[in-house]
Amino acid sequence: MKDYTIDITLSEARKEKPVAEQLQFGKTFTDHMFIMDYTEGKGWHDPRIVPYQPLILDPAAMVFHYGQSVFEGLKAYLTKDEAILLFRPDKNMERLNRSNDRLCIPRIDEEFAIEALKQLISVDRDWIPTAEGTSLYIRPFVISTEPFLGVAPSSRYQFIIILSPVGSYYKEGIHPVKIAVESEFVRAVLGGTGTAKTGGNYAASLKAQQVSNLKGYSQVLWLDGVERKYIEEVGSMNIFFKINGEVITPSLNGSILEGVTRNSIISLLKHWDIPIVERRISIDEVYEAYKEGVLEEAFGTGTAAVISPIGELFMKEEKLIINNSQTGELSKKLYDTLTGIQTGKDIDSFGWVVKVN
Ligand SMILES: *Cc1c(COP(=O)(O)O)cnc(C)c1O
Repeated sequence: MKDYTIDITLSEARKEKPVAEQLQFGKTFTDHMFIMDYTEGKGWHDPRIVPYQPLILDPAAMVFHYGQSVFEGLKAYLTKDEAILLFRPDKNMERLNRSNDRLCIPRIDEEFAIEALKQLISVDRDWIPTAEGTSLYIRPFVISTEPFLGVAPSSRYQFIIILSPVGSYYKEGIHPVKIAVESEFVRAVLGGTGTAKTGGNYAASLKAQQVSNLKGYSQVLWLDGVERKYIEEVGSMNIFFKINGEVITPSLNGSILEGVTRNSIISLLKHWDIPIVERRISIDEVYEAYKEGVLEEAFGTGTAAVISPIGELFMKEEKLIINNSQTGELSKKLYDTLTGIQTGKDIDSFGWVVKVN
């Protein structure tokens, strides 16, 4: 790990903390933030924790024009005995660097990034909500800041971490959502930026999301960009199907974002000796499985919701109702096990959980 010292300036005025029941996703931020600068020739420098504040950027800063930026998302939990736990933060920082590589952004020392994260969380530890299902959402991101309108990699960047207390994703317990199969728009293509967590991917997904919302669906199921046939992801989550006792998830094909939750679920299933395969799966195969009555469960996976069961899949002008629109047994078991490990309630036999304090 690089030997940096993080300069800390504490905020004089502390913000009022929201009450647990009113917490919404990503709307409230803590008292402090972490920032570090990159300058070509000098590398990453001046890591500091400062009061949460607006950024001052030149209107020509490259991030505003060509979108050279990346982000991550993970959570911290407070256990009953006041320990702060992170879930596999090394995986997020590894992925941050894979995203950086794809976007021509200089790499960040992964161990140092975790250290910076731990120090920031310690400073704002009073912000970690404690009610059932709540957590502190962590958003590390990198933006290009050089004032220049040329299309080229920026010579300056900022690496920033902000923290947001978030409520339970499922206010009334885990429940299935309605998904529409997207046949017009695509999220990503092989050779594009689908494997990177970069803003442009999400900007490109909004239109499909908006259209499906108007029809009463909460997210879309993305198909591949070439044949419009193979399943990629659901909304901004990875996807799993349980067909005739076997669990199937699309293999990482060069346009799918590799989720930490996806990876953890594959490990859990293997550990439980439940058949799990990573392979190409077409929408027709899912449709046929449904018609044969062997499509047992379908669910999305990601940090925010952990597991998001799919109760209805709209395709070919038909509504496929999966598992009576109820949360499946496996979905529930995965949700309980993963959240149990993340919150320190259950034993972590995989060595996934990292203590902050
Ligand atoms: C972040 C993300 C995921 C899920 O990743 P996790 O590490 O499990 O949170 C899946 N798909 C997309 C497109 C994402 O942005």
